[in-house]
Amino acid sequence: MPPAEPVVVEPVVEPVVVEPAGSARFVVDDEALWPAVAALAGRRVVALTGAGMSTASGIPDYRGPLTRQKARNPVRFAQFVGDERARRRYWARATLGWPRIRDAVDNDAHRALAALETRGRLTGVITQNVDRLHTKAGSRRVVELHGALRDVGCLACGHVVDRDDVQARLIAANPGFLVVAAAAAAAQAAPDGDVDLHDGLVDDFVVVACARCGGALKPRVVYFGENVAADVVAAARALGDDADALLVAGTSLEVYSGRRFVDAACARGIPVVIVNRGPTRSDDRATVKIEGDVVDVLVRLARAVA
Ligand SMILES: [Zn+2]
Repeated sequence: MPPAEPVVVEPVVEPVVVEPAGSARFVVDDEALWPAVAALAGRRVVALTGAGMSTASGIPDYRGPLTRQKARNPVRFAQFVGDERARRRYWARATLGWPRIRDAVDNDAHRALAALETRGRLTGVITQNVDRLHTKAGSRRVVELHGALRDVGCLACGHVVDRDDVQARLIAANPGFLVVAAAAAAAQAAPDGDVDLHDGLVDDFVVVACARCGGALKPRVVYFGENVAADVVAAARALGDDADALLVAGTSLEVYSGRRFVDAACARGIPVVIVNRGPTRSDDRATVKIEGDVVDVLVRLARAVA
């Protein structure tokens, strides 16, 4: 790992200074983090996380400052549902991309939030990530705003199966595919598990269907053009309402499904601490913005919020 960049704290508005409540004890081991620690002091914190959490786990952030130029056109929901060839392309690429997601290991940023929850300082995590790494790290209350690649659902009957089962069927239906595809792919993984494949490989790919009804299978992640399910929004909102501070980590808040929780926190007048490398859409609404490495900052924040 390269040496951590210096952390620059940029309070965008007057930092909220909160006296530690009750028996809570806050050891500030770094002056630069004090405004954030002060804003979270004595409060029940809910975390809102994005792709920047998982870059240290080898899953690229396609909206991050370093990869902005590499963003590719993701499959849109209407295209996936209406175009058999689009589905074939998706599943061919995803068959190659899945092991990278499946085998990704949680990092110290995920573990820092899990530790805060264990200590009763964090009510839970609302995540935009589809890699399930918060759960791997030991977080118990997690709302996956955009679903998870681990879950695959039938578009016809709604039956849900584990991605590994689908993977085994895909590999069985396409003998030799993985070897040829891996050799052919420049293997540039994207957050949704896709990799680039040429048309010939896609044309020959055999897609598997729902084992119950023969319907088309789709990963249970929210596609562009698709809405977050109402019950998921309700669960996330409940988690947010249960907290009295919001910690945003590793997201540029480009998507409204995440940004709405900042809006809700501001409407309630509770502190909002944003930790991100690069600007976010809600920097002007933050109580404290910490521009820096998400892993580095969260590890030290979790240590400080004892
Ligand atoms: Zn089905």
